[in-house]
Amino acid sequence: MIYEDSAAWARAQDAKDPGLRDAFIFPESGPLYFAGHSLGLQPRQARPYVLEVLDDWARHGVEGHFAAARPWIKYQELLTASTARLVGGQPEEVVVMNTLSVNLHLMMVSFYRPRPGKFRILIERGAFPSDQYAVASQARFHGYADAVLESDDPLQTLHERGGEIALALIGLPNYLTGRVFDAPALVRAAHQAGAFIGFDLAHGVGNLLLQLHEWGPDFAAWCNYKYLNAGPGGLGGVFVHQRHSRAALPRFEGWWGHDKEKRFEMSPRYSPIVGAEAWQLSNPPILQLAALRASMELFDQVGMPALRARGDGLTGYLEWLLLRLGAEVLTPPERGSMLTVRFAKAQSLVLALQKRRAIVDFRPPDIVRIAPAPLYNSYGDVQSLCALIRELHG
Ligand SMILES: *Cc1c(COP(=O)(O)O)cnc(C)c1O
Repeated sequence: MIYEDSAAWARAQDAKDPGLRDAFIFPESGPLYFAGHSLGLQPRQARPYVLEVLDDWARHGVEGHFAAARPWIKYQELLTASTARLVGGQPEEVVVMNTLSVNLHLMMVSFYRPRPGKFRILIERGAFPSDQYAVASQARFHGYADAVLESDDPLQTLHERGGEIALALIGLPNYLTGRVFDAPALVRAAHQAGAFIGFDLAHGVGNLLLQLHEWGPDFAAWCNYKYLNAGPGGLGGVFVHQRHSRAALPRFEGWWGHDKEKRFEMSPRYSPIVGAEAWQLSNPPILQLAALRASMELFDQVGMPALRARGDGLTGYLEWLLLRLGAEVLTPPERGSMLTVRFAKAQSLVLALQKRRAIVDFRPPDIVRIAPAPLYNSYGDVQSLCALIRELHG
């Protein structure tokens, strides 16, 4: 695409490809919103869907499990097909449950099985702190200190030290740099080394084109409140590859993972659902699911291939404009919709942008993360933001 640095060019581009901007509420304090990688915007349809659940609760009380407009007993199933499409999984491989850090621990209960000589957990260097705390505490829980291997090049580390590695947990992309690792190659290398591998898709789901079933990681986990717009504290999602659907993996279990037909027989014997749903412990928060449903319908409407193409256009434009400003873009070409940029006076720039009602994300000491969310950001947004940066950063 041949870009131009002009509001008129950006407007013309938006007229050709408007995205789903009108389906979202842009915040009054920050209508130039570039933090969809941190907390996605509210879909207009979230409020009516949440109100529907509140109304059903008021009208039906406990009977709402069966009598609600969308019965709560199987409300989460409304999200299964859309979730599977987003990650390129089979419906039985995905479930929406809990939150991300909790799910990472539940996945490690099953997929971190250390033994002497093969106990290491490989993560990418600079992984999200919660992931670092989770892997280190899992290793300690199993009696291993210093079991965590951090690597700038996880693929090479798998080739060189795979024998020691029990589990690889890799952010796709890394939350700070936006770098997307070669997922199929990592999976092949991990499995060749006899290690399990999982991806943290917090910044990947709703952003990257994912083919989890085909790539074959053992598991993946993500949150739904970043690109997926589920709202603050929204639920997480999990993928467990089909090859483990019926395997007797160790697992923490609860009544919501029990065979649905027989759940209310309240039998003392656990009989698991086949697939990822067997990892569920509790009945899910319906209000949260309702908000997520509003966003999932929008993803279904556009589809990930079209969305990724739009994301590449917007992100390419952002990069082109930033480079013209002389900014240092740290994100490599293997990326999704977020650019990590170094500015000499990053903090004062971000505060000045905020005063002008533009929201980007600051990471000390000098890093700014800017994410044009392909569902709702526009070429006009990107052009306006960079014009502001030019004015404020000088
Ligand atoms: C956002 C994010 C989290 C947040 O975890 P929660 O349990 O949802 O609070 C964890 N890991 C990564 C990589 C993230 O980007």
